Amino acid sequence: MTDNHDIAALIRTIPDFPKPGIQFRDITTLLLDPTGFAATVDRLAAPYVGTVDLVAAIEARGFIFGAAVAQALGVGLVLIRKDGKLPGVTVGVDYALEYGTDRVEMHEDAMVPGARVLLIDDLIATGGTALAAIRLVRQAKGEVVAAAFVIDLPDLGGAARIAEAGVAAHALVA
Ligand code: IMP
Repeated sequence: MTDNHDIAALIRTIPDFPKPGIQFRDITTLLLDPTGFAATVDRLAAPYVGTVDLVAAIEARGFIFGAAVAQALGVGLVLIRKDGKLPGVTVGVDYALEYGTDRVEMHEDAMVPGARVLLIDDLIATGGTALAAIRLVRQAKGEVVAAAFVIDLPDLGGAARIAEAGVAAHALVA
């Protein structure tokens, strides 16, 4: 990741958030830097110019990067949201958390069958969220061609897990 040191330097780690023992990677400092933010969007989008039909972004920080990447690629943006936030008819996928379950949803008419989809989020940790989003896009007959993240926490195995599901992960900072 040596070439993305400039981006890594703009991301701070906040200890014990949201719970004691968690080292939270905080991208708000990256967003404050217009050059760093623009470089992040450029580098997330660059491998996919002309190869995808839609960007699907995961709530909430994924929306920030996903919206900009969709514009950079000249394609539409699909919002993948937490349970109960979308106003129209939705399709959803439940997934397991450490304690309990969560659910991601999107509008049932958001996906064109056969669309080539780039999934975007700010960070991949265990990969649970991204895997649920991949299942959701596939359920709606979209094809997830890749998933791109600003940050990968490789010790948590998420990128390997989504690779097993047949989706290559691309992250700028590990
Ligand atoms: P996963 O499902 O375990 O891969 O967790 C990834 C999801 O949790 C993403 O939607 C992230 O936005 C969020 N997340 C987990 N850890 C962090 C962190 O340290 N900083 C920012 N977001 C995080």
